[in-house]
Amino acid sequence: MSDFNGLLKQSNLIDGKWIGADGGGEIKVTNPASHDTLGHIPNCGAAETDRAIAAAARAFDDWSRSDLSQRTGLLHKLHDALMDNQEPLAQMLTAEQGKPLAEARGEIAISAAYIKWFAEEIRRAKGEIVPAPSADRKLLVTHHPVGVVAAITPWNFPSSMLARKLGPALAAGCTLVAKPATATPYSGLAWGALCQDVGFPDGVVNILTGSARAIGGAIMDSPTVRKVTFTGSTEIGKELIRQSADTVKKVSMELGGNAPFLVFDDADIDEAIKGAMVAKYRNMGQTCVCTNRFYVQAGIHDAFVERLKEASEALVIGNGAEAGVEQGPLIDTGAVEKVESMIDDARSKGAKVVSGGRRHAKGGTFFEPTVITGATSEMTFATDEIFGPLAAVFKFDTEDEAINAANATDFGLAAYAYTRDLGRAFRLNERLEYGLIGINSGLITTVEAPFGGLKESGMGKEGGSQGLEDYLSTKYTCIAGLT
Ligand code: ADP
Repeated sequence: MSDFNGLLKQSNLIDGKWIGADGGGEIKVTNPASHDTLGHIPNCGAAETDRAIAAAARAFDDWSRSDLSQRTGLLHKLHDALMDNQEPLAQMLTAEQGKPLAEARGEIAISAAYIKWFAEEIRRAKGEIVPAPSADRKLLVTHHPVGVVAAITPWNFPSSMLARKLGPALAAGCTLVAKPATATPYSGLAWGALCQDVGFPDGVVNILTGSARAIGGAIMDSPTVRKVTFTGSTEIGKELIRQSADTVKKVSMELGGNAPFLVFDDADIDEAIKGAMVAKYRNMGQTCVCTNRFYVQAGIHDAFVERLKEASEALVIGNGAEAGVEQGPLIDTGAVEKVESMIDDARSKGAKVVSGGRRHAKGGTFFEPTVITGATSEMTFATDEIFGPLAAVFKFDTEDEAINAANATDFGLAAYAYTRDLGRAFRLNERLEYGLIGINSGLITTVEAPFGGLKESGMGKEGGSQGLEDYLSTKYTCIAGLT
């Protein structure tokens, strides 16, 4: 078994030491494509989490008051260490998560880019001296690290979801307790190894694996943890928001989505298909910004469906580690069953499966890229997140109809639209109730821009200058008696 250049860690990092669970319990981790065992990780609980929080609190004293140049210097080294290890990190990510290697390499690159972005952005986290109403006083507005931060991350982007939490937290002067998802823990644990290698002080970064409920409970109960940043399901996010009330923590939530993808008659169809493929099938449809609902205007509908079918059928399916593969397996059988039940539901309500629709002949959790037409608002995918390679196409006539349908959901994360009408582009910007809007692009995430949802898709932003704000507390200080 490869140890991925020494970056595959089978233990947890607390206060600079790699440890196992108190009771010695372990959890097996498998490769979703080959079903090989990748290794075993500690099954930690509340006691280990309390120790990690205490270590982060001790480290916070020095780290929060350290020279900015020390923090940014270490973050730049961390960026370089990630890029120097891009290949083994990408291979590890594909081994535990299943996505094609090319996508995994991209995820490592954007992870490194987040670290560099926040190392640069913290240098511009300026305060203000506000004009005072009387001459004897100065009014200072200053920004300070919030304290110990806990980060809980999902399995679909096990590296970059941690990058955009760890980067701003460490840049701001916070210390961190992170809990990666159990299905894909190694990319998260590798961050601990790299942080240690480049010289972050002990206790600044702590990483735990194990029981989500026990670790999550200890985090949420702790008055020491001042901020929780979470990416995952809306269901768990809501639970964490409720749990945060007792200690009034700051919370950032990146939750589920139900992305609409609008194609108007005036769209450039080649570009629309290119955008549709990436917005639908990236990571086998397992991203919170993946298209859930295609709305295609009547005049272009049949041509668009034909092209989408052709492109979907041409996708190369297999183990993501193999060259040329474009679609890996789904994360587990639960994910396969969810897609199957959505297809059955749609069929029973009159939809037509024009392509795919079944488990792939490769077996395991491989699934055929699937295109469905005749979708309606009664079908499950109209309201629920698919998280799989199923493209459901709805037909519409007017712009108003499309916008209203697109907004008819509790979610508000990402929306896409293809049109060459500039006036329409601005109307969509105003009327689509989404935190992320791609006009003529199906892939818009970038470190420079704030990523985050509206409505039940969450609160807070990651990336952009806004991505730092959540890790800073603002103080107002009045210095009086100056005349
Ligand atoms: P998904 O598995 O669909 O990405 P989840 O919300 O189930 O979404 O998981 C996201 C992250 O939240 C994972 O790291 C998971 O272990 C963690 N998690 C799940 N349940 C809880 C909980 N009750 N408290 C804290 N973290 C949790």
